[in-house]
Amino acid sequence: MVSKLASIHIDMDSPNTLLRFWGFDGNCHDLDSFYEVAMTRALGLLRESGVHATFFCIGEELEKSPVAAAMVRQASRDGHEIANHTYSHPFALTTLDAAAIRKEVQDCSNVIRSVTGSPPVGFRSPGYEVNATVLGILEALGLESVNKERAKLEQRLLNAVSDLRLMRKEREQYRDQLLGLSEAILHLLKTSTGGDAQARVEVEAQLRSSNGLATTSRSSPTH
Ligand SMILES: [Zn+2]
Repeated sequence: MVSKLASIHIDMDSPNTLLRFWGFDGNCHDLDSFYEVAMTRALGLLRESGVHATFFCIGEELEKSPVAAAMVRQASRDGHEIANHTYSHPFALTTLDAAAIRKEVQDCSNVIRSVTGSPPVGFRSPGYEVNATVLGILEALGLESVNKERAKLEQRLLNAVSDLRLMRKEREQYRDQLLGLSEAILHLLKTSTGGDAQARVEVEAQLRSSNGLATTSRSSPTH
């Protein structure tokens, strides 16, 4: 039974992006080498662990670096999710006007579609900042609904896990009731007289057999 759920997200921010975040003029001249080393390690580790992750990609970098594009294509083939992290990773996305925000999202989606053959599975804003304008644009572009579908699926999975736990609890209650009832009847048979002797022996054997089953079932390990 699933007892723990986790989700692994990897933001594909190159050194350029991080340098810009700290106020420097980021200029990573060798995006190819960066993506080759980082993605080879990440994909190898995920493959070894048998885990799938979600990669949030910057469209512009996939266009600039053929290696980055090839690695993302490989990630998609390996079964990982490819998601939208804007076209140029502007840190103040929410301060841009609606047309510029829309272009950032749409251009990245177009690059991802051309690299993997599929639309992105979701969106993450640089610095995680969103506002009503961003959300409205995501909805219009169909990305918000993708996120909602994912949330619904996650909720259904959690509900199923919770239902299974409830069913197990109910089953244990029925079993305990059955054991209690059997014990009571056995006691009655022992302490009462009369009736058909053969029938008494058969009832007693049946009860002992069902008690044995219920006890074995109760002591089986649960996860
Ligand atoms: Zn980022």
